Amino acid sequence: MTILAPDERFVHRPLSTKEPFDPDPALTRPLGLLVAAAGATLRRGRLAEVRPDSRSVVTGDGETIGYDTLIVAVGARTVPALGPPAITFSGASDAAAVREMVDDVARTALAGRDVALAFVVPPGPGWDLPAYELSLASAHALELAGATPLARVLLVTPERRPLEIMGDVPSDAVAKDLAAARVEFVPDADVRDYDGAELHAAAGRRIHADRVVALPHFTGPGIAGLPRDPQGFVPATWTDSRVPGLERVFVIGDAGGFPVKQGGLACQQAQLAAHAICVALGIESDLEAWEPALRVAMWNGEGHRYMRVDLGGGHSESVGVTSDREELWTPGEKIAGRFLPGLLDGSGRESLIDWAPRPPHDIDAV
Ligand SMILES: Cc1cc2nc3c(=O)[nH]c(=O)nc-3n(C[C@H](O)[C@H](O)[C@H](O)COP(=O)(O)OP(=O)(O)OC[C@H]3O[C@@H](n4cnc5c(N)ncnc54)[C@H](O)[C@@H]3O)c2cc1C
Repeated sequence: MTILAPDERFVHRPLSTKEPFDPDPALTRPLGLLVAAAGATLRRGRLAEVRPDSRSVVTGDGETIGYDTLIVAVGARTVPALGPPAITFSGASDAAAVREMVDDVARTALAGRDVALAFVVPPGPGWDLPAYELSLASAHALELAGATPLARVLLVTPERRPLEIMGDVPSDAVAKDLAAARVEFVPDADVRDYDGAELHAAAGRRIHADRVVALPHFTGPGIAGLPRDPQGFVPATWTDSRVPGLERVFVIGDAGGFPVKQGGLACQQAQLAAHAICVALGIESDLEAWEPALRVAMWNGEGHRYMRVDLGGGHSESVGVTSDREELWTPGEKIAGRFLPGLLDGSGRESLIDWAPRPPHDIDAV
């Protein structure tokens, strides 16, 4: 196995929402060590082009590398959804700007002035959770600074209800979390622009905001030689992560066509690809169990709320939900995968994510 990657360090992106408030040393790890632990060889470089006819890829430096099987896992590209003075949060490199903005909001409120800080989820494919975590943690920090109620935190999103994709029970639980933290939830808002005082949403709607942090738009990776859907993502079959029309080419994670860009889902897609490869090589595999699920550990500035929703039967159909503050998988890593947590903590242990299904419930309501 050869891993072609430009990075010196692996970045565990889910921890980046903690970075403005409570930096975690586990945010990055040396990529070379992780790759070696997985029994692969790291080759530094960037995938520029796939040439399926000759079963080879071309790197950004013009090198050609042959493959028997190719897994494309280059992630998505992000572009700001709103221009300045809004700031964009795409990951840890934007943490300092968010911290500065939260501190500025606190100072303004402590000087006796009303100030509204909005976190904006843009329409389109992506993963909304970071906006929830940032707004909850910011509200917590502003409360600790004594800046509330003059400092208000808004969460502005196209969703109809909090973390809608997770289904009814988790959504209700998240609504309670937002209310308890005094985060104002602004639903049904397709924000297109910000003029420094108001967010401009579809249908002429205006939402007042003094400071704005927006999540970015996600677009496809734009690798030559790969098919792309209208948004530039690489199409994949839902059940085995293959790129339709290309032999022995798989795509997993944010680069693929599934609109939810979530790490736990990427791990499941990786398992499906690994299973298909094992089968093709005549190797026994127990990786195929395909019960697609979203597993979410939502950080709120102090702790986590754990949630799970099955995606069985269709791309976003909820068929069962569980939401509580217990760890629903072990270890309770933010990216729930069978192998990733053990690789990251160096133990090599497999995670337990396939516990017996529980009936939907919200522990706070019991
Ligand atoms: C702030 C934030 C919080 C999140 N929280 C959670 C969470 O709590 N739980 C969860 O499950 N998910 C979460 N996610 C989503 C999760 O991080 C992503 O879904 C996941 O990282 C996708 O993995 P990936 O490998 O597809 O892409 P990435 O993680 O983006 O990795 C792609 C890698 O490919 C490299 N690369 C890029 N282009 C090339 C190229 N041309 N050639 C070679 N290499 C290339 C990149 O440098 C990068 O290392 C969060 C995301 C963000 C941004």
